[in-house]
Amino acid sequence: MATKQVPYKIYLSEEEMPKAWYNVKAHMKTEHAPFINPATMQPCTKDDLRPVFCDECIDQELNETDEYIGIPDGIRDFYRTFRPSPLIRAYFLEKLLDTPAEIYYKFEGNNTSGSHKLNSAAAQAYYAKQQGLTSITTETGAGQWGTALAMAAAFFGLHLDVYMVKVSSEQKPYRKEVIRTYGANVIPSPSDTTEAGRKILAAFPGTGGSLGCAISEAVEKAVTTPDCRYVLGSVLDHVLLHQSVIGLESKTALEKYGVTPDIIIGCMGGGSNFGGLIAPYMGERLQGKNNIEFVGVEPASCPSLTRGKFAYDFCDSAKITPLAKMYTLGCGFMPSPNHAGGLRYHGMSPIVSQLYHDGYLRAVAVEQSKVFDAAVMFAKCEGILPAPESSHAIRVAIDEALKCKEEGKKKTILFGLTGTGYFDLAAYKQYNDGTMTDYVPTDADLAKGFATIPDCPVNKGAL
Ligand SMILES: *Cc1c(COP(=O)(O)O)cnc(C)c1O
Repeated sequence: MATKQVPYKIYLSEEEMPKAWYNVKAHMKTEHAPFINPATMQPCTKDDLRPVFCDECIDQELNETDEYIGIPDGIRDFYRTFRPSPLIRAYFLEKLLDTPAEIYYKFEGNNTSGSHKLNSAAAQAYYAKQQGLTSITTETGAGQWGTALAMAAAFFGLHLDVYMVKVSSEQKPYRKEVIRTYGANVIPSPSDTTEAGRKILAAFPGTGGSLGCAISEAVEKAVTTPDCRYVLGSVLDHVLLHQSVIGLESKTALEKYGVTPDIIIGCMGGGSNFGGLIAPYMGERLQGKNNIEFVGVEPASCPSLTRGKFAYDFCDSAKITPLAKMYTLGCGFMPSPNHAGGLRYHGMSPIVSQLYHDGYLRAVAVEQSKVFDAAVMFAKCEGILPAPESSHAIRVAIDEALKCKEEGKKKTILFGLTGTGYFDLAAYKQYNDGTMTDYVPTDADLAKGFATIPDCPVNKGAL
């Protein structure tokens, strides 16, 4: 119960920004299964990972014991340019829905990249620079991650090559220009600059590319270039660690007003914003200190948690990354071309997957036309034009608030508003023109994806 009238926006001071990230693994009852090196079928060692990732990120990736990991001043300084982010009480949405529920959202779209991804981009670019590297590589799909990393690379003085899924680079030419403006080099993927890209071009001439393929190219470029490493924007444990800044700030802001959420909702692509938003609250839940309901929302057209298999799979479609134990649709899965709403990754963060497997969170799959209904309703009353990805969380927050109304229950809802939708206007156009369609894959469609999960000893019984 709030003790003071909650303002529309709860701002924290810069000094209230977290000084350490929160590592939820310190309290997980079951650690997720280790990465497996596909060449040896043994758990990955730090040395296996060193050619690909920065040393500090590897240490964080494998850290299962430290509850807090300090945020270096160099990263906090960059954070000051766009954090703390506001926590907003959705008074106008509550009024429109005529719900007894209190709705809060943490807005991460107040920076040029337009999403939460800058939280981890900042950390990873900083560590690359500290290690004395000169360049980094990555992939980007919709472009938010490429933009975020381009901003961070520019800030810390690193060269960046971004492999951008070819259809996105064609559909979002302005996103590409933002990335280039920050000094990064954009290469449409598949490209002929890597072995992986050339193979895919030969097998599928004219393909528009995929995130998995772009990852393969970026990793190959990193391991074949001196003083260069690869940077990933989601899925991995260290990315969720960096994103815990979202949950920590939310908790500090809500505690100022004596508010504890009953339900926390986030959208899920690779699971990083959701994992970060819930982290400190989930840590308490794992210690028996709260009974919060955690809800992850995914597109019905890319339903990795709700319909995927919990198995070891490659993180990319060219099968060059280590194997991760996660909920997956198969590394060869591609969402239907009419899917406009983002969140198209075939797998899911191993941390989120394990927590789901152990029953600590619920997953909901929603169809894109309903997601855009929610986006438009939200834009009209709260003013912010939400990213389609974020709108998955809005959809379920609205549904939960309407359920409260029906049942006459007052609940406190917190959801993550991960970003803005200015570069997603082609999707909004489809919606406004009435040409947006929903596509839910059949079991037969999914079976084709599942067939691409490696049939190896570690998957015995899982497939
Ligand atoms: C990338 C992105 C997501 C999904 O990624 P996660 O790693 O699951 O958080 C969600 N919202 C926005 C705006 C994004 O850019």
